[in-house]
Amino acid sequence: MSTKSVLVTGCAGFIGSTLSERLLADGYEVIGIDCFTNNYSRWIKERNLLGLRLHPRFTFLEQHLLHTDRDLLLDKVNYVFHLAALPGVRTSWGAHFQEYVDHNILATQGLLEALRRHTHVEKVVYASSSSVYGGMTGPADEFRVPTPLSPYGVTKLSGEQLCLLYGHHYGIPIVAMRYFTVFGPRQRPDMAFHIFIKRILEGQPLTIFGDGGQTRDFTFIKDCVDANIAAMLSPVQGEAFNIGGVSHLSVLEVVRLIEKATGKQANLLWLPEVPGDPKHTFADIGKAQALLHYNPQFDVEHGLRLQIDDVKRLYNL
Ligand code: NAD
Repeated sequence: MSTKSVLVTGCAGFIGSTLSERLLADGYEVIGIDCFTNNYSRWIKERNLLGLRLHPRFTFLEQHLLHTDRDLLLDKVNYVFHLAALPGVRTSWGAHFQEYVDHNILATQGLLEALRRHTHVEKVVYASSSSVYGGMTGPADEFRVPTPLSPYGVTKLSGEQLCLLYGHHYGIPIVAMRYFTVFGPRQRPDMAFHIFIKRILEGQPLTIFGDGGQTRDFTFIKDCVDANIAAMLSPVQGEAFNIGGVSHLSVLEVVRLIEKATGKQANLLWLPEVPGDPKHTFADIGKAQALLHYNPQFDVEHGLRLQIDDVKRLYNL
């Protein structure tokens, strides 16, 4: 049997690089594309790619998805994971919005147009986000009407809607995965766990926006990757899935867990809430459990220990 080939867009990022490693370990050939957007330092993304670049079944293309030959890219692949995007809620307001439109909407539409011509592709998995929902007070299922609270959320919802539209209209076998706050080794340096761990280890003050009582559904990276692989292999198409984790905690509870795990006390600075940040996110993962047999395993306490080790290695702390 010949080796199946997978395209991963955004392969130098947090989730894309971890997923690519897993695909290689599972025996697939991986073509990764990334243009090193400047949402965080290139050296961190290069570090994410280190092991991948050495692998004989990995091919890397440093290209912008909007300006690459997408037909050539799709020619020989069996599956596509579309993770390339500009993430981050706070920077999506104001002048940066055009970049969000380019990376999150136009690049997605361009890929979908090319996918129309490549009917041999067996499954496309789109990285959507809990930010499509906006705020929630209890567990949200996929029937909840999306009302994003940030321009970023609007662009992710647009990308998702485009995917489902092209799926229904042109028969592209596609699913959208609404990830809820993914954490663990390689988490982006602009994300809360990463910032909290680094500041606490360095003895630097860390900022809490609002009262610290905001809660999140936290998804460990391995669980997120498992969900993606399950979606790739599943016959299900034309659906969106919530991908949440085992733990639902407040920001302050997370800080306390990091203090416990590092043996160091946090020095907290308090600032007002930031527009676009939902007060609570809470995933009802029943649909992914039923249709994808998704079964998250890692709670925050366990996953944090692995992330703390990674942050220590990253900054020599
Ligand atoms: P990341 O920034 O670490 O990775 C994204 C990668 O995509 C980056 O390396 C970037 O350089 C690349 N990229 C962006 N636009 C590109 C383009 N036009 N062409 C080529 N490469 C491009 O982010 P991440 O946290 O790994 O997120 C991956 C995906 O998951 C994103 O689509 C994001 O919206 C989604 N998501 C992430 C989370 C999370 O908790 N990390 C939650 C919800 C959704």
